[in-house]
Amino acid sequence: MDIIHENNVVISHIDTEQYQHKVAALDMLRLDLVHPVVSGNKWYKLRLNVLYAQDNNFKTMVTFGGGYSNHLVATAYTARRAGLASVGIVRGKYDHLTPTLQDCINEGMELIFVTKEDYDTQTHPEWEQRLAAQFDELYIIPEGGANEWGRKGAGLISRFITEEYTHIALSVGSGTTLTGIRNKTNTDQIVMGFAPMKQGTYLTDHIAPHLTPEKNTNWQLFDNWHFGGFGKWNSELIDFMNHFYHTNHIPLDIIYTSKMMYGIGQLIAQNHFNITDKILCIHTGGLQGNISVKGLLY
Ligand SMILES: *Cc1c(COP(=O)(O)O)cnc(C)c1O
Repeated sequence: MDIIHENNVVISHIDTEQYQHKVAALDMLRLDLVHPVVSGNKWYKLRLNVLYAQDNNFKTMVTFGGGYSNHLVATAYTARRAGLASVGIVRGKYDHLTPTLQDCINEGMELIFVTKEDYDTQTHPEWEQRLAAQFDELYIIPEGGANEWGRKGAGLISRFITEEYTHIALSVGSGTTLTGIRNKTNTDQIVMGFAPMKQGTYLTDHIAPHLTPEKNTNWQLFDNWHFGGFGKWNSELIDFMNHFYHTNHIPLDIIYTSKMMYGIGQLIAQNHFNITDKILCIHTGGLQGNISVKGLLY
């Protein structure tokens, strides 16, 4: 399916001078360059879902997310290109549409706003029942694209990850992308997930059951660099993003990738790595979310 091409993806070198060259390589896989709307990992989590929905003659893709969910917009965009209708169940009521939700509407997504309680407690069968009368043949994708096709699709990212890298670092939300990548990379490559929320290591229990037994090793979550919680930030993080941009000419996003790169920098400074280690950081995209801090960047 050629909704999106991957021709733009490159690996960039990150300047390690500020870390006194304490690692052999610090590179970044630029999935942010995949597409301006369906950026980064979101395309990978959706692509096999879309194929499955098309092959099985589903008419409507339904998914879930908050008002700033990159997954919601990505679903709206890909559904439309695939000839499917889309419905987004939004967690919480909003007085004003967020830019993300406005983008969803512009891509033809129908939004249904529900209370946080309903969102958190209702199961898929309940949603299906509720929506079935209103929309044609529903295909429900869980929040964050966290299903088997999402994990398999994320595994396709491994095609860019060569054997030379000893460590692979990425940010985690649902852990779906990390799961797909861990399952498809060499067992001795160490996969490091950086949680952008408080106490993010709870995700271990969501990830481990979906790893093939021989791959359930050499992976670890870090949750020290949440900057106050999901979506929270401070001037130190902004300064870091600006410095990173001026040094490497790579924009980071305020929610996920900035916190990961900050954490990697701290780990390097703390001698977590060997001088021979080669680290590949994955830029999972999300740059459209920077609109909330636009005036502060670069
Ligand atoms: C959604 C998102 C993630 C989290 O991906 P998961 O597969 O849910 O862990 C990471 N980075 C960015 C930029 C994202 O938009």
